Amino acid sequence: MSPLTKRRTCVACRRVGAKETMIRVARGADGAVGLGREGRGAYVCRAETCISKAIQGKAFGRALRVEASSVDWAELETELLRTITDSNVES
Ligand SMILES: [Zn+2]
Repeated sequence: MSPLTKRRTCVACRRVGAKETMIRVARGADGAVGLGREGRGAYVCRAETCISKAIQGKAFGRALRVEASSVDWAELETELLRTITDSNVES
């Protein structure tokens, strides 16, 4: 693998993969957690099992250092699952 390829670790299964194969979740300056934000980030595989595991195991909360109660995790899970569903659509 090229040394220029950024590698990231999935917060759920700890698999290390190329940045492009992972979904980035970040905590913005306003403290809100979501996709496509600047700020402290955590990565998860584009896989339903990893997304669910990361949400249910509160791995994002630990990785992003946010109060678990300050985030709507169900909404984030829905958003992440929609992201992988969209990218899997045959064209
Ligand atoms: Zn994973």
